Amino acid sequence: MKILLVGAGLSGAVIGRELAEAGHDCRIIDARPHIAGNCHTERDAETGVMMHVYGPHIFHTDDEGVWDYVNRFAQFMPFQNRVKTTAQGRVYSLPINLLTINQFFGTTLRPDEARAFIESRADTSITEPRTFEEQALRFVGPELYEAFFRGYTEKQWGCSPTELPASILKRLPVRFTYDDNYFFHRFQGMPRDGYTPMIAAILDHPRITVDLGTDYAPEMAEAVDHVFWSGPLDGYFDYRLGRLGYRTLDFERFTHQGDYQGCAVMNYGDREVPQTRITEHKHFSPWETHEGSVCYREFARQAEPGDTPYYPIRLVEEKALLAQYVDLARSTPGVTFVGRLGTYRYLDMDVTIREALETADHFAAAARAGDRMAAFVQEPL
Ligand SMILES: Cc1cc2nc3c(=O)[nH]c(=O)nc-3n(C[C@H](O)[C@H](O)[C@H](O)COP(=O)(O)OP(=O)(O)OC[C@H]3O[C@@H](n4cnc5c(N)ncnc54)[C@H](O)[C@@H]3O)c2cc1C
Repeated sequence: MKILLVGAGLSGAVIGRELAEAGHDCRIIDARPHIAGNCHTERDAETGVMMHVYGPHIFHTDDEGVWDYVNRFAQFMPFQNRVKTTAQGRVYSLPINLLTINQFFGTTLRPDEARAFIESRADTSITEPRTFEEQALRFVGPELYEAFFRGYTEKQWGCSPTELPASILKRLPVRFTYDDNYFFHRFQGMPRDGYTPMIAAILDHPRITVDLGTDYAPEMAEAVDHVFWSGPLDGYFDYRLGRLGYRTLDFERFTHQGDYQGCAVMNYGDREVPQTRITEHKHFSPWETHEGSVCYREFARQAEPGDTPYYPIRLVEEKALLAQYVDLARSTPGVTFVGRLGTYRYLDMDVTIREALETADHFAAAARAGDRMAAFVQEPL
């Protein structure tokens, strides 16, 4: 069959590769002048540093099949994300762990002592936390909430933690060990030459053609048997029911000679400091040496038309609109909505790849059975 895939990010690339290997002809288009979607990396011309252009991307997974898949297309270097935060005039280790607790309270507590101590700070009068704030107060108490969650969350989401659901925060977002590895996953790493060459290798197949700088136009669908859409779900329908809400990010680039902050990611917890974090990109490639350094000061705000959509908001209002778009999509034959924008969900890269592989399997099964391919393989709601 002839297939059109809109978006040359991980979703479009992996589905395209699977379908090409199954014998279908795939055309992949992307409005941007580069492949790899939001995972795009490129070398900074001035310093030679590998830049994560749309924000830092660390590969982590427990899915061995996905780990094997990415290792087919790139050499992965060991990398563990260790994040720090500046709050109330000091630097602390994240996620909140035994070191953070002992630094913050000036104590020398062992794990069981720290657990009892944090429980003593918690507001046990809150029996059923409904909001983010209540969840934090219930499980970590006012001091840690104020220093590590309140300001950061307000900046990231642009609203008070009293307006966010409790489900955004884990029940106990604290570790009672000195483990400061940000992710718990078994497999973690960074592609040695960045994500873009990895995705170029996925796309490197004789049955795949890629057209960059190419916006989708409805007549393109007439020339093919099926469309996979990894752009914004509401965008496919020209936003006719309204716009699904996203947070976007602004990156303020600056350079530095030497080492600016000594780590890849420094969060800023205070409300008065406008940035949410600073990322220093050369620390994402610790096997390289660069004299110069490039950093991004990162600010979050509501996405306006024309902005890059980063994080789906998915609160009550957005979910109601999402349900309407899902109905519209289900009544539109010939197109399957995939990926983080097509299904309006935050998806890590490993989940994106797993879902893309499942989508290709569904397509093969539907074709064998002579069934119509579903609008969604993964349920957006
Ligand atoms: C700030 C940030 C940090 C992240 N960090 C991590 C991390 O550390 N680890 C991790 O595992 N994951 C991370 N992710 C998630 C990761 O970015 C996603 O898993 C991945 O980008 C999903 O790929 P995708 O192909 O679904 O979407 P995208 O990468 O967004 O690709 C969609 C593509 O579609 C194109 N497109 C849209 N509309 C059109 C149109 N009309 N015509 C033509 N082309 C169109 C876009 O230009 C884009 O290139 C992060 C995400 C964000 C936002």
